[in-house]
Amino acid sequence: MDATTDIRTLQHFIAGQWVDADGGETFDVLNPLDDSLYARAAKGTGADMRAAVAAARAAFADYKETTPTQRERWLLRVAELMEEQQAELVDCLIDEIGSPIQKAMFEFSKGLTMVRAAAGMCRNVRGETIPSDAPGKFSMSIREPLGVVGVITPFNVPLIKTTRLVANALAVGNTVVHLPSEMAPHLTVLFAQIVADAGFPAGTYNVVTGFGHEIGDDLTGHKELDFLTFTGSTVVGQHINEICAKNKTPTTLELGGKSPTVVMADADLDKVMPLAARSIFMFGGQACIGSSRFYVERPIFEEFVKRFAMIAGKVGMGDLRDPDTVIAPIISDRQRQRVRDHIADAVAKGATIAAGGEWEGNRCQPTLLTGVSQDMTVCRTETFGPVTSIYPIDSYEEGLEKANDTEYGLSSAIFTKDIDRAFHFARNIGAGMCHINGPTIHDEAHVPFGGNGESGVGREGTDADLEAMTALKWVTVQL
Ligand code: NAD
Repeated sequence: MDATTDIRTLQHFIAGQWVDADGGETFDVLNPLDDSLYARAAKGTGADMRAAVAAARAAFADYKETTPTQRERWLLRVAELMEEQQAELVDCLIDEIGSPIQKAMFEFSKGLTMVRAAAGMCRNVRGETIPSDAPGKFSMSIREPLGVVGVITPFNVPLIKTTRLVANALAVGNTVVHLPSEMAPHLTVLFAQIVADAGFPAGTYNVVTGFGHEIGDDLTGHKELDFLTFTGSTVVGQHINEICAKNKTPTTLELGGKSPTVVMADADLDKVMPLAARSIFMFGGQACIGSSRFYVERPIFEEFVKRFAMIAGKVGMGDLRDPDTVIAPIISDRQRQRVRDHIADAVAKGATIAAGGEWEGNRCQPTLLTGVSQDMTVCRTETFGPVTSIYPIDSYEEGLEKANDTEYGLSSAIFTKDIDRAFHFARNIGAGMCHINGPTIHDEAHVPFGGNGESGVGREGTDADLEAMTALKWVTVQL
């Protein structure tokens, strides 16, 4: 903490020590609500990243020998400490990334669940016995941790992503090097202190703060990296994928989305409307699984737009600590410009704004567009703001076809009373996740979470990460 300004300075956490950046440089972290200075953070260098990987590698030798009981105890202690420090974590989610308290509390409780679910993974790192054709040979597979796991996380759900991916990697016996978003380093720094206080040995969890475009390659391209899990934009994911492919480093990539919701005429709009609003306005639309495309059957189209516009006009945009507030500030100037450009481009090309479209400070009003066509950027590209397009459809088949007309494939939803159609949709949508009569925004610790195409590669969650972050080894004994 700088005593004269009350501004905290964040350091890296490497080999169990809090350290400044090599060369001592820092960068500013801004509160997105008003762009005031929130913190200064160590501006990581390639040397810092290499030191963190070396620390994780050195710690792995002993850490892989720890017992499930020991790792489980440490993880459950992390959950206890999180509960004790709930107020500080929630404050950080509000002031560092602009989460309304409703979203911050939701994220906190999800984060806790992620850590507790990870504790349950420790006892499940198992192989199997395999019948052998060779007489007298006893054959088995044993499952082993991979080694050093790189974790790269985005700004929008830093606690969910940090808890899930770090805890899952540690649960199965890996050590970790974490590069958090340059817009959310404090949250990760708080978590690192909790992990250390819970008793995890020095070097098992290392955090380097800084800019991904400057030091990301020093992690993703590191020869000592055994696995990388990345969550962020598709363009950065593509770059990382190329580097990891070259080194044959296995990855999971959780990327952007343009998730569709189909609403059939038989759906109960009283139930659908609040869920539709939640699926795009939560955290100001800064959710990878937000629904930025609605396909609504023509008989209910006008009613749907009318009701959606009414809700949009009432969504809370007040104090972030008011439980009724939903709309968050858009995280950065660059992102604000992107949201503005998407709306302006759509309007210039003939779309109609059915609600919103204006800004209050750094917050974009909940915005609904109709009359959107293929040539508009908002039609096919992720906006990452509280902006969605509503399209009329004349049949279920048209809804499915249009929902599938995308390079992305993250989440999806259908609202209907027809269970056959609903299941047909679930089986034929090209997304990694599908929710019948529920919003596209949903996540649980133990589900296979992830997308296809431009939305990513692989799945995360307790089972999926156990599989991805360990390897089977075949062992035989000649008796
Ligand atoms: P981003 O891609 O700008 O940054 C994500 C992370 O990548 C940050 O930590 C950043 O420092 C790092 N990074 C940047 N360049 C890098 C490089 N060359 N090498 C390595 N790391 C690098 O994304 P963002 O703006 O923080 O987050 C928003 C995006 O994340 C959206 O596209 C959203 O859809 C996506 N997202 C996806 C999921 C999912 O589970 N599929 C979840 C949350 C967010």
